[in-house]
Amino acid sequence: LEALDNAVPAANRTQDRSRPRPADTAGADAANQGFENTPDTDPSLPANQAWGRAILTRVADSELGAAAVAAAQIETEAALNAAIAKGVDSAKGWAALPAAERAEILHRAGTVLEDHRADLMEVMAAETGKTLDQSDPEVSEAIDFAHYYAERAKDLETIDGARFVPAKLTVVTPPWNFPVAIPAGSTLAALAAGSAVIIKPARQSARSGAVMVEALWEAGVPRDVLQMVQLGEKELGSQLVAHSSVDRVILTGGYETAELFRSFRADLPLLAETSGKNAIIVTPSADFDLAARDVVASAFGHAGQKCSAASLVILVGSVAKSPRFRNQLVDAVQSLKVGYPVDAVTQMGPIIEPAEGKLLRGLTVLGEGESWLIEPKQLDESGRLWSPGVRTGVRRGSEYHLTEYFGPILGVMTADTLEEAIELQNQIEYGLTSGLHSLDPKEMDVWLENVSAGNLYINRGITGAIVQRQPFGGWKKSAVGAGTKAGGPNYLMGLGEWEPAVSTG
Ligand code: GLU
Repeated sequence: LEALDNAVPAANRTQDRSRPRPADTAGADAANQGFENTPDTDPSLPANQAWGRAILTRVADSELGAAAVAAAQIETEAALNAAIAKGVDSAKGWAALPAAERAEILHRAGTVLEDHRADLMEVMAAETGKTLDQSDPEVSEAIDFAHYYAERAKDLETIDGARFVPAKLTVVTPPWNFPVAIPAGSTLAALAAGSAVIIKPARQSARSGAVMVEALWEAGVPRDVLQMVQLGEKELGSQLVAHSSVDRVILTGGYETAELFRSFRADLPLLAETSGKNAIIVTPSADFDLAARDVVASAFGHAGQKCSAASLVILVGSVAKSPRFRNQLVDAVQSLKVGYPVDAVTQMGPIIEPAEGKLLRGLTVLGEGESWLIEPKQLDESGRLWSPGVRTGVRRGSEYHLTEYFGPILGVMTADTLEEAIELQNQIEYGLTSGLHSLDPKEMDVWLENVSAGNLYINRGITGAIVQRQPFGGWKKSAVGAGTKAGGPNYLMGLGEWEPAVSTG
């Protein structure tokens, strides 16, 4: 980490992050509990552009394959048990710290993560193919989690008549698609609540997870309280999750993984964010320019590899009947520059691994009545680089309508009325994000009343939840277990138990 840090371009320290605060948030400080989101790097400033180019040069030159990951490599059940025992032992001292002291360490973690913004962006590009415009906000989100949960931990001490007893040991199993923000958010929440953590970063993004964890250690989180492991054998994963000393498991991943975890231990105390199959509805009252922009960003940002991504756009009434919006959408999608993130003009990067199985089917096989508005093409030998695909004619109840693909594909559906469009979204068993493009307040009300998804967005893209302002969490099969929304006021409460306070009167 030190070597990487020394190579951070000076612009990282000096860039101007000043940004005027929107007037309507200034008066909302009480509701915001004094919290302000961390601004992303302003790409319009020449110094920041040079800084970004320096990161890309480092990505091109880096020998990540040779760099060591600081995770403990666990090969035996005995070693796993030792790590668990170490976590449980350390939990007592950590929980005994006043919340304000833990908060101080977490605030410092926010600062250290900011210092390592360039390192984090570099390693995310190298491992997962993220472009800078995707990885920069991800670092901001991780920093937000640190400052936000630090303050929320103090709330836990002020509830009358009950005492919060944190989970002793929390296991965090994050995904590769947000390899910094999600592991950081889950880990920081558990730490803030007073729990010790064992984190197992995703195999595909182990180094991104490691740079994040090292930043937390650097900020003063003790190494026994936060352990990072990689597991040699598959069985070790089930043994870790099923271990009776593990009080909470925070999982972000597919619904099947949550079910698998439950099969390891029926009473598993799980907080899981799972799959999504999300639609944006466009009504005739919409601003089509905005709608096309947001649909494209939501469908193809990070090559569609987000639980929150738009995988369907549902055109209502005259939007469905006239070619105008479809043409606009096709133009916008075709203008996307596809490539690897080392090339600064790239807007959509590669998928994480060569397409196979369900994703390959989604990229190559049409359902009954469907046709390609834009046929996706494999662009190089790697199997990872695909141009974006748009299929139209997707029928109600079809495979494409109901399946999550996690890649650069969008399907167009049509509906006669807004109500019918909402039904098409609600028929899906997942309920993570959902979007409406409409300028009609009545339509907004109808949609808000009737759509069943956790995160709702009007006249905006449907990815990129924001800590405190738009916490993130799903309904239906997009969530499993007891968690509330990540980045929201009640998330920490799921990381412990409440006991009646001992009366001293
Ligand atoms: N929080 C992310 C967003 O709002 C999505 C996280 C995920 O894909 O799991 O876009």
